[in-house]
Amino acid sequence: MDNEDRKNTIARREFLERLSTGALGAAGIAMGLSSIEASAAQAKLERRNEQPEMVYRPLGRTNLNVSRLSFGCIALQDDRLPALEMAVERGVNLVHVCSGYNRGRAIRALGKFLKKPGNRDKVWIMLKHVSSNIDDKLRILNTDHIDIICAPITRPDRVRKSEHEREKFEKLKAQGKVRFLNLTTHGNMQQCMEAALDVGWYSSLLPVIDLTNIERMRPTLQRAARQNVGVVAMKILRKRPPDGEKGIVRTLFAAGVASILKTMNSRREVERWIETVTTAPQEPSRSGVAGLGDCEEGVCSLCGLCEDCPNGVAIQEIVLGYTYYYQQLGWPEIAAERYREIAPRATALSCRDCGRCEQICPNGVPVRTIIREAHKRLSAVV
Ligand code: SF4
Ligand code: SF4
Repeated sequence: MDNEDRKNTIARREFLERLSTGALGAAGIAMGLSSIEASAAQAKLERRNEQPEMVYRPLGRTNLNVSRLSFGCIALQDDRLPALEMAVERGVNLVHVCSGYNRGRAIRALGKFLKKPGNRDKVWIMLKHVSSNIDDKLRILNTDHIDIICAPITRPDRVRKSEHEREKFEKLKAQGKVRFLNLTTHGNMQQCMEAALDVGWYSSLLPVIDLTNIERMRPTLQRAARQNVGVVAMKILRKRPPDGEKGIVRTLFAAGVASILKTMNSRREVERWIETVTTAPQEPSRSGVAGLGDCEEGVCSLCGLCEDCPNGVAIQEIVLGYTYYYQQLGWPEIAAERYREIAPRATALSCRDCGRCEQICPNGVPVRTIIREAHKRLSAVV
């Protein structure tokens, strides 16, 4: 075998591996594999609750063939279960929850849903926080394992040093309580994703991607695809795209995002989002979607430039939580809950008004005004 043949064989093997884990899907046939090879690789995909109306894509190396629309449970409670039931009926097969969401009402409501015969086998569960003792969460969720456990980390240096999360994950995995490790990030978006790709122990990523940062994130998304790390995008509508919800969905799918995580509180919202994700063009495009630049003026793109506040204020978390949950969605309780999760030394009270963050911000975000207002309003929510 000469060098060229050897290179071709290796490239083919790598390609087959990626195909087998679902990174390339049906594109394999178009790229010269026999249909037998391609179908054998596709057969390794894990499938669940696939309905004709929904579209599915492999979530990187997890091998889970996830629905293009995932159900976010941050606002879930018993009287909103009809929305979840409808989403699952229509083919959604990935749900995301955290034990603290909606003061614990979300995980309990999801647990009720999962208790109904057959429901657990229809969805994969993503749970935020890698905690050594997850037995209480498993009990509330009426399940014996979590499919994807999420490590929420917002600083790239901490992502690089997240062996502790990995070790906890490995232990839980050995006990059969979790299956895959995900990195979830709410700040320093691109840097955290790159760090996760460097360390290599995350099977999937859950970043905030929207019009404010998609152009900057595109190379990182391409790298994730090359490394077969699946991406679920959250908070995709902080900046309204000129061509509506379909515009940003089309852009994200073209950039290689597998699924959109959306909080849906009513059956009408479920209907609208299913229509949005299933009618968008589905295939990744090399050139992306033309005509969309970052639309950033006044909106935080989570670029991380202001990360090093001399007084340790958690600028991105406060700005994101307040502008998104309080101002945009009008959910004071959830915004306040997130604010309470911030360490006391990192709240707006630590700001000494030096102005550094605003000088450095490329988007002209009025950080000081936002964080002061956030503190005033969110501290008043009981
Ligand atoms: S103005 Fe406040 S939040 Fe901004 S860098 Fe200075 S201390 Fe930190
Ligand atoms: S406030 Fe400005 S500098 Fe800070 S993360 Fe947001 S966009 Fe970047």
